[in-house]
Amino acid sequence: MTRRILVTSALPYANGHIHIGHLVEYLMTDIWVRFQRMRGHRAVYVCADDTHGTAIMIRARQEGRSEEALIADMQAAHQRDFQGFQIEFDNYGSTNSPDNRELCEHFWKALRKQGLIVERDVTQLYDPLESVFLADRFVKGKCPNCGAPDQYGDSCEKCGAAYSAIDLVDPYSTLSGAKPELRSARHYFVEIEQLHGFLEQWTQSGEHLQLEVANYLKGHFLAEPLRDWDVSRPGPYFGFELPDAPGNFWYVWFDAPIGYLASTAEWCRARGERFDDWWRSDDVEIHHFIGKDITYFHTLFWPAMLKVAGYSLPTRVHVHGFLTVNGEKMSKSKGTFVMASTYLRHLDPAYLRYFYASKLSPKVDDIDLNLEEFAAKVNADLVGKVVNLASRTARFVDRLSERYPEDEGLFEAGAKLGDDIAAAYDACDFARAMRLVMSLADRANEYIDRKEPWKLKKDPAALDTMRDVCSVALNLYRQLAVYLSPVLPKLSQQSAELLNDDLSTWKAASVPLAGTPVGKFQHLLARVDMQAVSKMLEETLSTEPAVVAEPTPAAAGGSALTDSDEPLRAEPIAAECSIDDFAKVDLRVARIVAAAEVPRADKLLQLTLSLGGDERRTVFAGIKAAYRLETLVGRLVVVVANLAPRRMKFGTSEGMVIAAGPGKQEVFLLAPDTGARPGQRVH
Ligand SMILES: [Zn+2]
Repeated sequence: MTRRILVTSALPYANGHIHIGHLVEYLMTDIWVRFQRMRGHRAVYVCADDTHGTAIMIRARQEGRSEEALIADMQAAHQRDFQGFQIEFDNYGSTNSPDNRELCEHFWKALRKQGLIVERDVTQLYDPLESVFLADRFVKGKCPNCGAPDQYGDSCEKCGAAYSAIDLVDPYSTLSGAKPELRSARHYFVEIEQLHGFLEQWTQSGEHLQLEVANYLKGHFLAEPLRDWDVSRPGPYFGFELPDAPGNFWYVWFDAPIGYLASTAEWCRARGERFDDWWRSDDVEIHHFIGKDITYFHTLFWPAMLKVAGYSLPTRVHVHGFLTVNGEKMSKSKGTFVMASTYLRHLDPAYLRYFYASKLSPKVDDIDLNLEEFAAKVNADLVGKVVNLASRTARFVDRLSERYPEDEGLFEAGAKLGDDIAAAYDACDFARAMRLVMSLADRANEYIDRKEPWKLKKDPAALDTMRDVCSVALNLYRQLAVYLSPVLPKLSQQSAELLNDDLSTWKAASVPLAGTPVGKFQHLLARVDMQAVSKMLEETLSTEPAVVAEPTPAAAGGSALTDSDEPLRAEPIAAECSIDDFAKVDLRVARIVAAAEVPRADKLLQLTLSLGGDERRTVFAGIKAAYRLETLVGRLVVVVANLAPRRMKFGTSEGMVIAAGPGKQEVFLLAPDTGARPGQRVH
């Protein structure tokens, strides 16, 4: 029976680029969807960028552009990254879409109608300079428990204490440096406790969740009354305004999952499908793939919202663990916080697709990308076992034997194992599927090693035997290529060309090919080069900020529509110069890797700049009044790189950082747009 399956991955947030940790989920989902299609099912994979919230608003302000421009750029970058890893969506939308707004209003009306919305005032820290309420990550201060300075508003990195932002000692806004005020504002809540009975039943039925997830919910949340869910934020906020409470906006987590429906609606319109056939139909399975950190939203709030609004409930929520690299959290300082685009500059996406597949199981365990193991496994399995079957035999024949020869039962055994492999894929036990496929590869290689077609080739009397052996080898290879297709779509495509065959259905693995031409053997997959892996880590170290850049006080000014002529009057434009004069000044992009106070200097900070690789410069800059030290490290600046070194009272300055403004607190460092890399020349 043909299943109709709607599949989603969690929506990537528009505040950052896709990295190899994110890719666990998108690759997992893509593999599962491709598998279902090979089995003849109708699977539709939708996703979207998650675009709303304070973080986006602040970043757009910081970059001096509109939120719409910021999220459009980020969406394009996300889609490029996904494409690079052969992750194919049927529709990729945005939560900032008219469809999503309309659907949010529909959900809201339903929640109101069933009496689930309550309102009350919430006291929160407020930044009086930026005029925004401060989410926990935008407040820092001394830990109320151990006194460690510069701790975030929710927990202390030093002692691990969790607290409320209003308990911080000497708090300051990381946006402006201002001391936050306590302010009260109206918030809207969903009384999810009213659906407790339904959620108990839905989560514990054994049908929709992994057992460990169901137990986690039971132990952590369902044993007590569920807390009301705060779904609104007072303006200014980048999001959708509540239709019946102007000045208030839906919290980003309210509209994000609704984005699954909005993206489906877009797809339906483009394909002439009926939306209700997908989200209000008993014949459709809905599968969500998510990381364990957002379990609460997807297994409690989300089914509750869908139920209230009258949509289909998820058939299954597949929860996966996080990625560690070399046994540790991904780390910027170790170069293991690898962006998707950085990976693609150095390594073949097929490697990561296979390696993740070989690690993924239906458990919620974290998976580890040990880079040595990564190279060894890909080289041993894909290159040594799979591709090797074709490369050792395809060159010897231009046609398969007219009848499929006797093969000691190998093909038949492989065809039979297809059911087990399919069951493993269907259950998201890709690790098991890969093990089964590799067991077939081992048997095939053992056969070739024994038959030695390269020796038969030299004996004119053995040419028919040689053709039969190669025909068996290529058919066994083809069977593997079919089973690996969901994981390695490109290899499958190349193999289809080599064998003049269609490998896009699972059935292809159960009928051997005979009497068909064999194409010219083309290189299929190279070995993983550990040097390329090292280069990828080095590039990550030199291009990714050491800390996530936070807006600086100086950069946070509002933008007026009409600019004052005061700066030009204060400092008129200099005498004309030629392009050659300008070319003498070598301006370079640099990253601030360290910033320190200079004892007894009231204006200067000592900056250590990286120009890429080992090239470092020490520069003294008169920006002390305008910037806090911790906001400087990691950010990109522009430096005059060929300025003659200047001896100063405190040391030698090896260059000059470019900034605008009259001085004191009004100094504005120039920053290149995202994507620029240290060492690049400014022309
Ligand atoms: Zn502490």
